[in-house]
Amino acid sequence: MDGHPLSTAALPPTGTLPLPITIAPGDGIGPEIMQATLAILAAAGAQLAPEVVTIGESAYLSGEPTGIGAEAWASLARTKLLLKGPITTPQGGGYKSVNVTLRKTLGLFANIRPCRALHPVVPTRHPDLDVIIIRENEEDLYAGIEHQHTDEVVQCLKLISRPGTERIVRYGFDVAAAAGIDKVSCFTKDNIMKLTDGLFHRVFDEISALYPAIKTEHLIVDIGAARLADQPGRFKLIILPNLYGDILSDVAAEIAGSVGLAGSANIGSHGALFEAIHGSAPDIAGQDKANPSGLLCAAIMMLAQNGQTHIAARIEAAWLRTLEDGVHTPDIFAADRSEVCVGTQGFAEAVIARLGQQPQQFDLRLSQPLPAVPPPPARLPKADKSMDGVDLFVHWSDGTPDDLAKAVQSAAHATPGLSLAVITNRGVKVWPNGRAETFCTDHWRCRFMLTPNASLSPALVPGLMQALAQAGLPAIKMEMLYRFNGTPGYTAAQGQ
Ligand code: NAD
Repeated sequence: MDGHPLSTAALPPTGTLPLPITIAPGDGIGPEIMQATLAILAAAGAQLAPEVVTIGESAYLSGEPTGIGAEAWASLARTKLLLKGPITTPQGGGYKSVNVTLRKTLGLFANIRPCRALHPVVPTRHPDLDVIIIRENEEDLYAGIEHQHTDEVVQCLKLISRPGTERIVRYGFDVAAAAGIDKVSCFTKDNIMKLTDGLFHRVFDEISALYPAIKTEHLIVDIGAARLADQPGRFKLIILPNLYGDILSDVAAEIAGSVGLAGSANIGSHGALFEAIHGSAPDIAGQDKANPSGLLCAAIMMLAQNGQTHIAARIEAAWLRTLEDGVHTPDIFAADRSEVCVGTQGFAEAVIARLGQQPQQFDLRLSQPLPAVPPPPARLPKADKSMDGVDLFVHWSDGTPDDLAKAVQSAAHATPGLSLAVITNRGVKVWPNGRAETFCTDHWRCRFMLTPNASLSPALVPGLMQALAQAGLPAIKMEMLYRFNGTPGYTAAQGQ
């Protein structure tokens, strides 16, 4: 930390105990925007006891296969607080996302991403955009559980839990109530994903009943996204499952003026991580062009959340005043309304020069602490669970769906109590009575249902799988079909 703007020696002597914090500059533009942010924090009198760690691509390249080493974990165990620059994640292969690992390992279930247009100071087609995106942070397709099943088909598991959903929805409503927001929206795709997104929507409806003063709406995510992009002013706070929240918070930040303007808080019961919403921007790394505002806004939220609201407010006021004065980085520079185009460090100097000044047009938003984290939801009582059948997936490419049905039925005829009910390919029914136009891959789901008066136990399934394997149809995946308190816990095949 020698020479670092936040080295302990540089801190102003006050009675406040410095806040232990882990700082990870990150990759790409990360070190530049972190340097700018830390310079502003130090000048504003933030009381921090920083521990700087290397994580991400730079850690990976120096031999740490997961991108985050023991030293970084040890620091996080001590501080439970991370201010992080963006991290480069390899696409389509390589090490897993360090961001996702951090959020999930530390139990940071809520990702809060405030986005607002700073019109007319920052050019935007949507002057009325002012929305908080609440993104579920641990579940959904980000479980990262992927498999190749056949030559032609790979899968990614989408996991949504009731406790995880209850917690994020409740926190979203708490954030709305604390901010005086009177309308909360939720987007899902529960017309297609009836069980997973259906659960998220159902829990949203249940929890909204606990906040009668807040109006609520649910939109299918496609029209919700279109309206957010076209008429963002109609939304105030949106609660979203992980993937939709990731995508739509970038959309909201970008149409507010720049993806470089938004910060985010990742909140959990045992720690917190603050970061910009954008990535490592390798296209402008090392050029002193990046806007440090996203990371600075995250740092303002971090200070507010950790008992230094006055310092947070001082920085937020100076940051807004800098933007109002037309001191802009290239991403938001417009010749007709900006005064001067500055680099990353020049922007930091301009903010530092305005510490103690107030904005003239915008109110402060980020320097309020977020609400307390709700306790983990109560566990559900165990349901009465009964089996209806089993889906066995097979890798096969030797003929038509009728050929497969014949082969499966002949192999399975000795398994009592189970009969082949339907075969699907990529979810669409192809047997019985499939259509010749349906394109089939080498990945087939054979659904076996209990025959009348038979009783099925999970122990029967291995026998069926063995019979199929002996007939040259080894199962690549099995899903039991259960009822929970009498309600089927599985969807019908498309076209069934
Ligand atoms: P990106 O956000 O890095 O960049 C998208 C565009 O926005 C680029 O043109 C970039 O120059 C611009 N931009 C981003 N931040 C800016 C800033 N502060 N100032 C000015 N312009 C800015 O997205 P990408 O290119 O898709 O991703 C690059 C890498 O970042 C990938 O490896 C990705 O996995 C990673 N990433 C990390 C995080 C994170 O650490 N939380 C988030 C998103 C992406």
